[in-house]
Amino acid sequence: MNNQPLVQVKNLSKYFQINKKEILKAVEDVSFDIYEGETVGLVGESGCGKSTTGRCLVKLYEPTKGEVLYQGKNVFDDNFSKNKLQYCKNIQMIFQNPYSSLNPRMTVKDIVGEGIRIHENVTENELDERIEDLLKSVGLNKEHMSRFSHEFSGGQRQRIGIARALSVNPKFIVCDEPISALDVSIQAQVLNMLKRLQKERNLTYLFIAHDLSVVKYLSDKVIVMYLGMIVEQAESVELYRNPLHPYTQALLSAIPEADPNIAKTKERIRLKGEIPSPINPKECCRFVERCMYVKKICHEEMPDLKTIDSKHKVACHLY
Ligand code: SF4
Repeated sequence: MNNQPLVQVKNLSKYFQINKKEILKAVEDVSFDIYEGETVGLVGESGCGKSTTGRCLVKLYEPTKGEVLYQGKNVFDDNFSKNKLQYCKNIQMIFQNPYSSLNPRMTVKDIVGEGIRIHENVTENELDERIEDLLKSVGLNKEHMSRFSHEFSGGQRQRIGIARALSVNPKFIVCDEPISALDVSIQAQVLNMLKRLQKERNLTYLFIAHDLSVVKYLSDKVIVMYLGMIVEQAESVELYRNPLHPYTQALLSAIPEADPNIAKTKERIRLKGEIPSPINPKECCRFVERCMYVKKICHEEMPDLKTIDSKHKVACHLY
């Protein structure tokens, strides 16, 4: 693994102005590094800002504050614009919904080949060969090239989406909940395929999910977000062995246990209430309304993301 992070996110915030008075703070002051070849899992409930963070990384959203550095260069800097095409080639995204992320009017060949046509000078024969190889690597075949996306199952559509992301030989892929819209029986196949492709192509992933058990299988590091902010960040083994933040503890307790003996003794932490609105949030701990360990200071001050040791950071006044 290289010593210089491939991607650095520094104090990233993304706000959406709802009306004159209301601001939706989707992401606030988020910082993390992603090294070449690793998988970073980004986890949290719907609306916690994980997809917005991913979209800022692929430049679908411009951050309100903060920076995204790719190989040490700020991708939102004006000087970076001449590298824009190269950046688009190096960074790709696999979308959550394989039903809406593929153009129904385009054939598989056009969908998968579009990026290659834009970035490279290839003949029609070369293009066909490349697409055939890509389809093979995601478990499809050349007969599928002339078909339209509505002719495929959800799992197959997601494979087409993955082939599209791979078509321009990216270094880094933002996987935005790539299995959450799929049947459970298909999820493991797609996860195994992503793992294999990472090894074969030396890919780096930001893997976004709401389920900590999925992230455990793939990730080297895990970042837990709650209401737009990072609440805990640790190496994967460390986070599952020793979760510190009350929210992470609750998420981990919700993972079903396969062993009936362990399941009997496992205590489920049930959080009270729903995730609050990210519109005009209070300047205190964002988890304050649902936390079972709440103290006076939690209502008064926002906890910093403290470094507990080299592998673990947590934002909570208990530490
Ligand atoms: Fe709970 Fe307070 Fe920690 Fe927030 S800072 S998670 S309210 S103990």
